[in-house]
Amino acid sequence: MRKWIGAHVSIAGGVGQAPINAQAIGATAFAMFTKNQRQWQAKPLSEGEIKIFRDNLVACGFQPAQVLPHDGYLINLGHPDPQAREKSLAAFIDEMQRCEQLGLTCLNFHPGSHLKLAPVERSLEWIAEGINRALEQTTGVVAVIENTAGQGSNLGHDFAQIAAIIDHVEDRRRVGVCLDTCHAFAAGYDLRTPETYAATMATFDQIIGFSYLKGMHLNDAKKGLNSRVDRHENLGRGLLGLEPFRLIMRDPRLEGIPLVLETIDETLWPEEIKLLAALQEGESAA
Ligand SMILES: [Zn+2]
Ligand SMILES: [Zn+2]
Repeated sequence: MRKWIGAHVSIAGGVGQAPINAQAIGATAFAMFTKNQRQWQAKPLSEGEIKIFRDNLVACGFQPAQVLPHDGYLINLGHPDPQAREKSLAAFIDEMQRCEQLGLTCLNFHPGSHLKLAPVERSLEWIAEGINRALEQTTGVVAVIENTAGQGSNLGHDFAQIAAIIDHVEDRRRVGVCLDTCHAFAAGYDLRTPETYAATMATFDQIIGFSYLKGMHLNDAKKGLNSRVDRHENLGRGLLGLEPFRLIMRDPRLEGIPLVLETIDETLWPEEIKLLAALQEGESAA
C-alpha cells in the first residue's frame, strides 16, 4: 500500500490508545485529538502519557508523518475580539506544543471565523499572525490549515483565502494545507467526475500549490455542491459517490501524506480502509 490511509481515532483512555485504535482498523495513517476537543483547558501531558504514546506509535508501526493531529473545536484564530483571539491563540500554542511533546510533525486546524464583525481580509491576517506566533514558540510542527465548507462566517472555504493566509506566514516551510473532500464539495469545488476532479485539483495547485498539501480528509457529503453545509457521510453513501475516492487513490500526487476518514459511522472504517486500498490496486492495471 503506497498511500497512507486511516481514520480519526479515539483517545479515550489516553493519547497512547490512538496508535492501537488505528492499528486495530487496519490503518496506515490516523488523526487524533491531543486533548478533549470541546474544552479550553487540558491538563499538560505527563511524562508517562508521552512515553506510552511514543512507544505505542513505534510498536504499531507508524512514523510521525503518518499522523495528522486535529485541534479543538473552540479555537478561532480569526476572532475579531482581541481578548477572545488571545485566548484562542494560547490554546492553539498549547496544542502545537502537545504535538511537539508527542514527537508529531503537524497540527491540522480550521482557520477561523470573522463572525460578521470584521472584514474577511483582516480576519485572515489575524489567523496568519496567530500562526506566526505559534511557530515562534514551537519547533518542528507544521501548522496545517484545513479547507472548510464555509458554513456561516467560517473562513477557508475559498482556496484564495487559504493562499492569503499562507502569504502572511513568515516561515512558509512550517505551514501546510489539509484538503477535506466534503468541505471542498460543499464550498463549490466539484470532484465527482475525472474532469471536475482534475479541474478542482488544478485550481488547488494554481492557487495554493501541491507543495503545501500535508494531508486529506476523505469524507462523502450529505449536502449538495456549493451548499456551504458541513455534513459528512460514509464513502459511497452521499452525494459525492465513490468516483472521487477512486480518483484520489490513483492520484500519484497524494502519496506520502495521511488520508484520513472522518465519516459518520465509524463501524465502517475497517471496510472503508479496505475499499480505498482496493481502489488503489487498480492503478497499475488502468
Ligand atoms: Zn475534515
Ligand atoms: Zn467537516
